[in-house]
Amino acid sequence: MEIALNPALPPLIIGGGLSGCEAALQLAARGIASEIWEQRPTFGTEAHVSEGLAELVCSNSFKSEDPVRAQGLLKLELDQLGCRLLQIARECRLPGGAALVLDREQFSAKVTDAIEASPLITLKRERFENLQAELATGRLVILATGPLTSDGLWQQLSELLGDGGCYFYDATSPVISTKGINRDIVFSQSRYDKGGGDDYLNCPFEKEEYEAFRAALLAGEVYPINAADKYLLFEGCLPIEELANRGEGTMRHGCLKPKGLVDPRTGRMPYAAVQLRWEDAFQSAMSLVGFQTRLRFGEQDRIFGMIPGLEKVKIMRYGRMHRNSYVEAPKVMLPTLQVREHPNLLITGQLTGLEGYMSAISTGLLAGINASKLLAGEVATVPPEKSCLGAMILFMVNPGHKAYRPTAFQYGMLKWLPEKIRRDRKAELIRTEAEAAWELLESLVGR
Ligand SMILES: Cc1cc2nc3c(=O)[nH]c(=O)nc-3n(C[C@H](O)[C@H](O)[C@H](O)COP(=O)(O)OP(=O)(O)OC[C@H]3O[C@@H](n4cnc5c(N)ncnc54)[C@H](O)[C@@H]3O)c2cc1C
Repeated sequence: MEIALNPALPPLIIGGGLSGCEAALQLAARGIASEIWEQRPTFGTEAHVSEGLAELVCSNSFKSEDPVRAQGLLKLELDQLGCRLLQIARECRLPGGAALVLDREQFSAKVTDAIEASPLITLKRERFENLQAELATGRLVILATGPLTSDGLWQQLSELLGDGGCYFYDATSPVISTKGINRDIVFSQSRYDKGGGDDYLNCPFEKEEYEAFRAALLAGEVYPINAADKYLLFEGCLPIEELANRGEGTMRHGCLKPKGLVDPRTGRMPYAAVQLRWEDAFQSAMSLVGFQTRLRFGEQDRIFGMIPGLEKVKIMRYGRMHRNSYVEAPKVMLPTLQVREHPNLLITGQLTGLEGYMSAISTGLLAGINASKLLAGEVATVPPEKSCLGAMILFMVNPGHKAYRPTAFQYGMLKWLPEKIRRDRKAELIRTEAEAAWELLESLVGR
């Protein structure tokens, strides 16, 4: 039986991650008080390491700001919609070429401050595990607990939705101290000299070094996964040992690609190169780009120490692997982010199966907007299909998926964009078409 929404109760947001914080700030921007529950620091997850809200668990990149790229176009649209976390991210920017790379600690601290300083947001540092009872009160609930949703809540959600949900295995990359990087070998350069010259450091491999490194990865000892699970991986973010396993050239055509780089010692392109990206404004730490891993910690010290120039470097934060849960959105969700059978429940963030930091922020924004509409007695809206947000959401609920897999926003989702324009990335044309769609978004903003 459908329970009537009780607008007198302040909406409850479960999870103080990227999507939950954006949703709370959007509600506050519309003058609506909300309550947000975050389980940390009392209960942690396998990936979060701090107490801060909106913690970035792996890479510190929000990807491209170049409007010719799908992720850049999405950012322009989110700016139109008044996205709060994107504004904060820009205040925490680190050098990163065309990508929006940020100081993760500063970002998390600023988002936490914004939530704590808002008179309209009540932050509770508690684990929430009473979903069915809360929905029975008629309260509007935004579920934003992400891919590492606590077991008890995941169990309740699965029962409520009547299926076991979906999952895949995902990993984080190690972060290293910059002390000990051998600058006689490691050189500064952005690929194709995009962005500032010092935005990235590169560790160049000769062919024999690369082969030895790959052999070590293939023989490296890894942590086991849950005995009852299949080892399902997300193709967009494969562990480095899995890439090594797929063939000799897979790494050097992927995250170790040397194209656009010239080693100053030899004057030529290296055989392969590991890129290092800044982690903080003090330049004390860097992450290994694309090095998600489930190698045992001791093996990470040994094998990543084989990377030319990193022989004496210490790992400050090891890469780790986790089970990553999401709902089968095409079956259970509406394009307004409401759950079909329980329209007072909105699901947002990575739990929807839309992958990546920017998707989490985008859906958090939409959840905030739609929650405010529902509380005002209005119909929740579906973003226009020509907009990036609309394309993403329509992908999410499309019943035609053979198997629903986590996917980040990409041009392929903009079905209205002629194939040729998509392929050639005609910046002006894409921009003109997209801007026409943004006009339609005005109705969505409703501020
Ligand atoms: C290991 C890993 C690495 C990733 N790496 C990247 C990457 O490099 N780039 C990228 O773009 N995306 C990455 N992602 C995907 C995704 O973008 C992030 O997980 C993103 O943080 C998702 O945002 P979210 O708001 O959905 O969830 P989160 O940001 O994870 O926030 C969910 C919050 O809910 C809290 N919570 C959980 N259960 C409860 C409960 N019962 N009660 C109260 N609070 C609870 C958690 O503590 C957490 O703070 C990664 C995901 C994982 C798991």
